[in-house]
Amino acid sequence: MRVVPAVAPIALALSLLSVGPAPAAEKPNVHIVATGGTIAGAQADVEQHGYTAGTFTVDSLIQAVPELKDIAAVTGEQLVNIPSQDMNDDVWLKLAKRLNELLADPKVDGIVVTHGTDTLEETSYFTQLTVAGDKPVVFTGSMRPATAISADGPMNLYNSVAVAGNPAARGYGSLVVLNDEIHAARDVYKTHTTSVDTFRSPEHGLVGRVDTGHPTLFGPPPPRGATYDVGALTALPQVEIIYAHSNMGRTLIDAAIAAGAKGLIVAGVGNGNMTKVAIDTLAEVAKTGVVVVRSTKLAEGTVVRNAEVDDDKLGFVVSDDFKPGKARALLQLALTRTSDPVEIQKIFDSH
Ligand code: GLU
Repeated sequence: MRVVPAVAPIALALSLLSVGPAPAAEKPNVHIVATGGTIAGAQADVEQHGYTAGTFTVDSLIQAVPELKDIAAVTGEQLVNIPSQDMNDDVWLKLAKRLNELLADPKVDGIVVTHGTDTLEETSYFTQLTVAGDKPVVFTGSMRPATAISADGPMNLYNSVAVAGNPAARGYGSLVVLNDEIHAARDVYKTHTTSVDTFRSPEHGLVGRVDTGHPTLFGPPPPRGATYDVGALTALPQVEIIYAHSNMGRTLIDAAIAAGAKGLIVAGVGNGNMTKVAIDTLAEVAKTGVVVVRSTKLAEGTVVRNAEVDDDKLGFVVSDDFKPGKARALLQLALTRTSDPVEIQKIFDSH
């Protein structure tokens, strides 16, 4: 649960001031790590038929926005070049390790990660949980391919570099910058299939806004839960997400367990609910040491522990306000430390 600390009125007033671009004489060093997505995508026709994410390289992205050199000394590298629906645990680990290497370099002031928007909310939160230090790590992408009319990628990249290079953005954890908005990776979700106004932080709201390279941060950095050192990890525990619905049976739960899942996230109906058959099956599963987390398929709200489901008795964990994708990332990391549902509940409550 994110408990926002009380802020003295004077501190709040100061924090609402536009922090503006970094001084021209001291341009920050911002490194771009490109992973693909629509921001690097090309379309075959104006209606996006035959469109392919992850077509252009990081060099083309940088060259497409010559104004970047006015606000930062920008360098780049291509980590992978994939549509983000193909994002996976191996790339997550590779990315977290690379970000930690880069951030340990005193010459790097901030990092921008370009990423497809489909799973951006998951990867950015995974890095929030696994990247050390307080330098800005800013995720961005675009909803329109680079070749589209009025492509949104160039401005998103420009604004992201401005935020990543700004010392005022330190300590916020991973951030997501698109459509002139600054979101905390912990809180942000994609909400619309095609609109450029798709990212929302429904529970905690925006961290700030950015107007053509001028960020305004609304308050002090939100508190962050503990981070996880993944430097020695070569794989993450298997966690599957199961979607609840009318007539939900046990078929997919049994299949996930047979496939070796160590944790299950249920995208429950309403307040993390599901059929009696599913509850009974999951209670059996929890007794075997597999961690069961009740989340919700709804876009907003917190799953309340021991409401209609007796979580204490059944040995379940509730996801707080984490929706299934972010809950999966957190559970995977939590499982590297413990499989005790009481301890894992504390982890969910403190992030
Ligand atoms: N499916 C693509 C991806 O996530 C397109 C979405 C986007 O980047 O906007 O990479």
